Amino acid sequence: MECLFCKIAKKEVPSEIVYEDEKVVVFKDINPQAPIHLLIIPKKHIHSVNHIEIEDKNLMGELILTAQKIAKEKNLRGYKLQINVGRAAGQIIDHLHLHLLSGSQSKNKKHK
Ligand code: AMP
Ligand code: ZN
Repeated sequence: MECLFCKIAKKEVPSEIVYEDEKVVVFKDINPQAPIHLLIIPKKHIHSVNHIEIEDKNLMGELILTAQKIAKEKNLRGYKLQINVGRAAGQIIDHLHLHLLSGSQSKNKKHK
């Protein structure tokens, strides 16, 4: 049984993927809350931050380094990273994800 984001990572469900490597996928949020709203997910299914195990600590670092890489590539002047944990905090998809939200790029855009 695979969740929606597992299916997106395997390209069984279409999405606008902007970055991918061996362990991480980044795609556009379908319902953006900011001019740039990306979701950064591990390919491995992890239900939420509450389900991270010690063996996942490098992977968690890679998710944040991926955010940094994308922010540099897109020349973002600033950005927010948000992780919702649990329904009460607004987590609706039970596959760990970082929201990368940004309102602005510097004038010298390298990318769209
Ligand atoms: P959360 O509320 O933290 O679980 O965030 C889930 C996010 O996934 C929401 O911002 C949704 O807009 C987004 N989302 C849901 N389905 C899709 C989809 N098929 N493609 C892209 N983003 C999605
Ligand atoms: Zn999943």
